[in-house]
This record gives sequence, C-alpha cells and structure tokens, in this order.
Amino acid sequence: MNLNVKIQLKELFSNRISFDKTERKLYGHDIAAMPGIIKPFIGSTVPEVVVQPETEEELVSLVKWAAKHKVALTPRGEATSGYGGVLPLAKGVVVDFHRMKNLIKLNLSDNTATAQAGMIWEKLDRELGKKGLTLRLL
Ligand SMILES: Cc1cc2nc3c(=O)[nH]c(=O)nc-3n(C[C@H](O)[C@H](O)[C@H](O)COP(=O)(O)OP(=O)(O)OC[C@H]3O[C@@H](n4cnc5c(N)ncnc54)[C@H](O)[C@@H]3O)c2cc1C
Repeated sequence: MNLNVKIQLKELFSNRISFDKTERKLYGHDIAAMPGIIKPFIGSTVPEVVVQPETEEELVSLVKWAAKHKVALTPRGEATSGYGGVLPLAKGVVVDFHRMKNLIKLNLSDNTATAQAGMIWEKLDRELGKKGLTLRLL
C-alpha cells in the first residue's frame, strides 16, 4: 500500500485508523492459536492498516475506496469465532466493527431485531430485556 493510498484512508477515518506495528500485530490473531502445522502455509497475517468505522456511510466510502484501489478488506467483530476468518490473509485493511454496536430496530410485531455488525449478544439481550424479551440461544 503506497503512501498516497494511506493518506486517502487517513482522510476517511482521521483518528480511527492505525498503522502502528504493535497494534496491527494484535489484529493478526483471533481467539484461537493457529496450529503450528498450518502456520508455514499461511505466512504473515498482519494487516497493513486497521480502521474502526462508526457509520454506514463511512463503510460505503471504504468499500468504494477499496474496490477502486484493489485493497482487501477483512471484517472483524470480536474475533471469537476462532476459525481464522478474521485473519487478513490478503493483508490490506482490517475493518474492526467495535464502534458499531447499536441496536437499530426492534420490531415487536414479528420479534425481529436489526443490529449493527459489532453488537455482542450480551448487549442485545440487555436491550431486549427492557421489552421483556430475551434471546433464545441453544
Ligand atoms: C466460548 C465460546 C462459546 C461459543 N458458543 C457458541 C454457541 O453455543 N453457538 C454458536 O453458534 N456459536 C458459539 N460460539 C461462536 C460464536 O458464536 C462466535 O464466536 C461469534 O458469533 C462470532 O462473533 P464475532 O463478532 O467474534 O465474529 P468474528 O470472529 O470477529 O468473525 C467471524 C467471521 O465473520 C466475519 N465478519 C465479522 N464481522 C462481519 C461483518 N460485519 N460482515 C461480514 N463478515 C463479518 C469475519 O471476517 C469472520 O470471518 C462460541 C464462541 C466462544 C468463544
């Protein structure tokens, strides 16, 4: 990723972007340890940049930007799935949804909830609790 491209990304995300080496290293892992036998085939999983979008509009701009510059985007929730899905194998940008964790809509007529991508189950369950509802996790 060249400097010009990095500057454009910085303009999009101001202080919600990190090029810091240590921080990027942390985003090269999920909750699980990668089996040693697989590691040599995967290589480095450290992204070039990490961003934390706050709005849908920002995400749209990011996706358009990434398509134009052919930069890979890897979405990341809380990295708890443990199957390597959040590892940025193609480098590029990790999109950390940590700041997008609100409930958007609760439809009581059909018991459906629409939430932002970074919302965790515990918070959703608390929100539902205010309406006397709960999640039905098995
Ligand atoms: C202790 C423990 C117990 C669990 N028990 C259960 C269980 O009982 N039942 C069950 O079903 N699961 C269970 N899980 C799995 C759990 O559901 C997942 O870990 C969790 O849902 C993943 O959410 P995450 O935000 O951490 O996703 P991540 O691990 O961050 O991401 C998972 C995948 O989704 C992709 N992704 C993330 N955000 C987006 C986005 N906005 N758009 C598109 N793709 C995206 C990532 O790139 C990755 O490929 C358990 C996990 C743990 C650690």
